[in-house]
Amino acid sequence: MVTVSDDATVVENDLSSGRLTCPDCGSGLARWGWARTRPIREGTPDRTRHHRPRRARCTGCGVTHVLLSVVLAARRADGAAVIAAAVEANTTRRWGHRRIAAWLGRPASTVRGWLRAFAASASVIAAAFLGWTARDAPDAAAVWPAPAAGQAARALQAVSAYAAGIGDRFAVGAVTWVRAGITATAGRLFTASWWAEPFQHESALPAGEVGAGACD
Ligand SMILES: [Zn+2]
Repeated sequence: MVTVSDDATVVENDLSSGRLTCPDCGSGLARWGWARTRPIREGTPDRTRHHRPRRARCTGCGVTHVLLSVVLAARRADGAAVIAAAVEANTTRRWGHRRIAAWLGRPASTVRGWLRAFAASASVIAAAFLGWTARDAPDAAAVWPAPAAGQAARALQAVSAYAAGIGDRFAVGAVTWVRAGITATAGRLFTASWWAEPFQHESALPAGEVGAGACD
């Protein structure tokens, strides 16, 4: 998967100009049809929007990639911003999953699943994003978080520090933590099974996607 702009016109232009590159080998990506349509519940209360991701094929190694919009979280039927709102309410306001579910208009079991997934990955997320902040932020000390209480809070802080760091780097102003997090993980920020895999997690420097519409 490759994370791309939520604006289809931008994606088509990027494909035409060869600006999108293969995460495996760095060659240009070319159009290769479409992935299946996914209904995604966005907003509060939910309104369903149908996303039909572009599929692209690498002109170098021939591997095909699904181009996932930055507003989507891999393997989730709800938009990334909705899941982020739940994680934030739980972490910073200490709301439980039932209260969040009522607030967002989602089933309590769904919200509980998001919170558990984030909690299960929290220590890995914190370590990964602090590492990427140190690597990518022009002045990492300026955005480095003071240690918070609790793993989930530290993870949220680390992603937020990374978002602030790349906002500085690309001079695009405020970047939401969920946009930065989704872009850096190719959509898998909220996918516990991905974080649990025993490999070194890599992040591409997400210049384009963070720069485009950074403040939504
Ligand atoms: Zn390739």
